[in-house]
Amino acid sequence: MNDNRVNRAEDEERRRILALLLAGGAIASVPTAAADDAPVDEGLNNNLLWAVAWKQTAAEYRALCYQAYNLARMRLDDALRQQKTGDRPLAIITDMDNTMLHVGSYWGYLINVNRDFFDDAIWDEWLPNNLVTAVPGSREFFDYCRENEVDVFYVTSRNQGERTYEYALAQLKYLEVPFADEDHLFVFRESSDKTPARDQIAADFDVVVLLGDNLNDYKRDYYVKDIDERLALMERDRADWGTKFILLPNPTDGNWVRAIFGESEPPPTDENRRKLKAAATRLAWDGH
Ligand SMILES: [Mg+2]
Repeated sequence: MNDNRVNRAEDEERRRILALLLAGGAIASVPTAAADDAPVDEGLNNNLLWAVAWKQTAAEYRALCYQAYNLARMRLDDALRQQKTGDRPLAIITDMDNTMLHVGSYWGYLINVNRDFFDDAIWDEWLPNNLVTAVPGSREFFDYCRENEVDVFYVTSRNQGERTYEYALAQLKYLEVPFADEDHLFVFRESSDKTPARDQIAADFDVVVLLGDNLNDYKRDYYVKDIDERLALMERDRADWGTKFILLPNPTDGNWVRAIFGESEPPPTDENRRKLKAAATRLAWDGH
């Protein structure tokens, strides 16, 4: 072959590899010691990039967190003003992950090892290392609760085996938030249903607000798989948002994922990538 034909053949090969990469075939593979001339998968088409980049860099993300906690404080001030002698004590209920505890380093790691879906095994390995930070505004709000003798209860659904509770408590202590003790931490290992904790707390306290990043943090009847049914249930309770329920933004995980895939932690398959695309293009312009 002459030089031109060699170049053309090389170009075609490059295009073929690029097309394969763009088709997403290599996204889920973990980098291995490849031959020098093998294409390098930089993970540039990872499905998580936009959501995680937003959470890691956008001033808007942090502002939304402050907005949520400022609103919680306004509600608490209202409740404190209205409180009369003999009333039941006030309390706040908060979820942990993505509500008061920022897990950005986990998602960054996932992207670096070319995973584009939540990975439970990596999560369980990452979690005990306390690589977390406090969600902006959370610690100040919880300190304000303590100053005003308002109890804060942490309610989470997690399962890292026998030491699950110990890990969760260690994270609260690491973040130096008030009420980091066994009386104020509820951990559900076997279920994502947090109703028993809410009921138990409400038996003794007047719960001012619930903080979460997932509809399931507020009511169990939101735990449905259908996208439109979920939307309708949220609309039904529209007066509660910002008054009783304070919501933090989370574009990477939660029960909204379950509504798309039928499960909260879908496996990283092309079938699921197609479902993700179908969800994203649900109301797309047809071009005409
Ligand atoms: Mg959460």
